[in-house]
Amino acid sequence: MQTKILLEESELPTHWYNVVADMPNPPAPPMGPDGKPVGPEALQAIFPDNIIEQEVSAERWIRIPDEVREILTLWRPSPLYRAHRLERALGTPAKIYYKNESVSPAGSHKPNTAVAQAYYNKVAGINRLSTETGAGQWGCSLALAGQMFGIDVRVYMVKISYEQKPYRRSMMQTWGAEVFASPTDMTESGRKILAEHPDSPGSLGIAISEAAEEAAGRKDTNYSLGSVLNHVLLHQTIIGEEARKQLALVGDYPDEIYAPCGGGSNFGGIAFPFFADKAAGKDVRLIAVEPTSCPTLTKGPYAYDFGDAVGLTPLLKMHTLGHDFVPPGIHAGGLRYHGDSPLVSQLHHEGLVDAVAIPQLETFEAGVLFARTEGIVSAPESTHAIAAAIRSARECAKSGEPRTILFNLSGHGHFDMSAYDRYLNNELEDYEFPVEAIEESLSHLPEMLRNP
Ligand SMILES: *Cc1c(COP(=O)(O)O)cnc(C)c1O
Repeated sequence: MQTKILLEESELPTHWYNVVADMPNPPAPPMGPDGKPVGPEALQAIFPDNIIEQEVSAERWIRIPDEVREILTLWRPSPLYRAHRLERALGTPAKIYYKNESVSPAGSHKPNTAVAQAYYNKVAGINRLSTETGAGQWGCSLALAGQMFGIDVRVYMVKISYEQKPYRRSMMQTWGAEVFASPTDMTESGRKILAEHPDSPGSLGIAISEAAEEAAGRKDTNYSLGSVLNHVLLHQTIIGEEARKQLALVGDYPDEIYAPCGGGSNFGGIAFPFFADKAAGKDVRLIAVEPTSCPTLTKGPYAYDFGDAVGLTPLLKMHTLGHDFVPPGIHAGGLRYHGDSPLVSQLHHEGLVDAVAIPQLETFEAGVLFARTEGIVSAPESTHAIAAAIRSARECAKSGEPRTILFNLSGHGHFDMSAYDRYLNNELEDYEFPVEAIEESLSHLPEMLRNP
């Protein structure tokens, strides 16, 4: 009975898979506030041309530069596990596999794109990057990648996380990054928020506004985003490509694939390479898992909205809860984003990708069962995928159906122990679905695009 399914370094994928090539309809274009599509030139103030090219590409396969592959081999190919012990604990006839992305130096899937983005900026002559981070996973990943390519990294960290996760901050500083608690008084966007809400705990949307503003205002500085955009999902497809090869080694193929979904990058990363099979007629369900307190795909309309809180970005067509929606303070910080990847959103809108929302307590219950069976203390984001996989495996225990389930363990929870503490002390609660906050926020969707 094999537990770990491993690939040789020489089997590290050589190309990323671009789902756009297999989508039934071309991606909806980003729009300006005037309701007209914006061209790639609108992005040139903050992104290098080589990344913009990937953002709009429809090529099926895009070569991974050798310099990027070399750094990825520090932890890739990542292991695929068969969760024998979890299966036994559930008494299920289902087979459960998980891809373990927690083995990267930063502890999540995010360095997969951070390394690529740092490389492309370096090649374009950029030596300074600004970005935002919520719980600190993305900031750590870009700090690590920046260090590898000699790029200065400046991170706007959501203030409440800055205070609650001091060790994520030290980790970024260890990798040489500068870290600021957002909202700051260093940017126009930050000052505007502070004038209205002096005690603002910050949000991902606000931090994005600050980081993007800094990059737009300085020639030597570009911006880097850890999720949502097409090129980020592209860089993450290495996860699903490896998983597909690993399952083939043991003669298996998934009936369903689960991943936690905040901005959609690790979901797209594991699911898209299987979408190619689905587009060719194969029966496989791709299921994004989100928190009931921030139910973007399951409850948000599919509409044009800003990617940030202040309204600096082009408008993206996506499932959204409204750009000024501030979700309840659940512990899965990486899942507290108002919008979602336009690619994932469009595929969901077209019925090709499914979504499910799970309440906080069920996710921690799943995380604890996973730690007690498989041993790994997972990130609160990843527990969403674990909980969904467990739901499915329990259905199989009832029906006798031997489903093959694959989920993405997007990261470990070593910096999230205060959240586990609160769960173990019965101090965590489920948040009601915040209907009124969402309705209020949706009433601020960009006017002329509300009913396109
Ligand atoms: C950031 C993060 C997520 C959510 O981001 P996606 O872009 O949706 O993948 C999920 N899990 C972990 C561990 C993260 O750090």
